[in-house]
Amino acid sequence: MGELTLGDPAGRIPTPIPARDEAPYRVTGIERRTPTIVEVWMRPLAGRLPYLPGEFVLLEDADRMVPPRSYSIANPQRSDGLISVLVTRVAGGQTSGWVHDRLRPGDEVTVTGPYGTFVADPAAAAPCLHLAAGSGLAPIRALIESALEASPPRSLTLVFSAGTKADVLDRDRFLSWQGIHPHFRYIRTLTRGPGAEPRGRIPDVLPSLCPHLADHEVFIAGAPGFVRACALAAEALGAVPARMHTEPFFVELPVRTGPVSSPAGGAVRTMAARPAPTHARGISLEPGSRSPSRQRLHDR
Ligand SMILES: Cc1cc2nc3c(=O)[nH]c(=O)nc-3n(C[C@H](O)[C@H](O)[C@H](O)COP(=O)(O)OP(=O)(O)OC[C@H]3O[C@@H](n4cnc5c(N)ncnc54)[C@H](O)[C@@H]3O)c2cc1C
Repeated sequence: MGELTLGDPAGRIPTPIPARDEAPYRVTGIERRTPTIVEVWMRPLAGRLPYLPGEFVLLEDADRMVPPRSYSIANPQRSDGLISVLVTRVAGGQTSGWVHDRLRPGDEVTVTGPYGTFVADPAAAAPCLHLAAGSGLAPIRALIESALEASPPRSLTLVFSAGTKADVLDRDRFLSWQGIHPHFRYIRTLTRGPGAEPRGRIPDVLPSLCPHLADHEVFIAGAPGFVRACALAAEALGAVPARMHTEPFFVELPVRTGPVSSPAGGAVRTMAARPAPTHARGISLEPGSRSPSRQRLHDR
């Protein structure tokens, strides 16, 4: 596959909200949503975080024993400041392992952000296609929930890809939104196991579901390979790269910054690289690329 460059050279997307410093949050709930994904709800202890739907935060434990990792916020802003994240367990993963195995309601965590440019222009009127798999649904859900309230309404389609029926997230929520908002269409596709049509990977089923994308804005979030395959499929159906927004959930391989003593003393912690712009103006998704060169969002 050749190189695909995605972005918004026209610069129509709104300027993301500048990141504020780290802030304490209290975990108010943890719900197992699928065999591999938990949803964590957190309440701010020091004021509401201003952010745009689609942005992400860094999450770590208050004692700084796990590396901070990027997690997309799964809901638009609420008056009570609650945010939720969908965290997939990664085999051997430090922070996702901590979230799945040790994090409990009542625990204090540290949230830093918001970051990212995977955001929508609230005034955009073009029909919008959202493609997500796994916890890639998080920023997509926030974008759709916020777009549903827009006036005049714009046509919104979500295609969510899951392995089996057990991996389908938020089906009832999306069916309920579809019942209330005639301009929203929800489609889930299964890649494994029994279940109703459609079945197959999004790049394979997209031509029959959404054959004409020339006038669409497209948002894609999930694992880098998924994002890349979907972006290529959308482009083949006419989607314009300048109107495609991508959020590949790159795994941040550790960058050693030298030994850091834990508060308890003795233990050595490897610092994670702070994330960089996730989508964007000119992300280049090289075949096999795990970590594109991206500048730190702290710098913006
Ligand atoms: C913008 C953005 C948004 C994201 N949003 C989400 C989200 O909403 N939900 C979500 O679940 N994830 C999201 N991610 C991914 C998330 O940030 C983490 O990368 C993921 O949770 C894994 O972190 P971890 O600490 O659990 O794994 P890590 O400890 O980083 O390990 C990851 C993998 O690398 C392997 N590994 C570790 N060290 C090495 C090494 N030295 N050499 C080779 N392999 C190694 C591990 O065994 C494991 O398989 C997002 C990422 C980005 C960039």
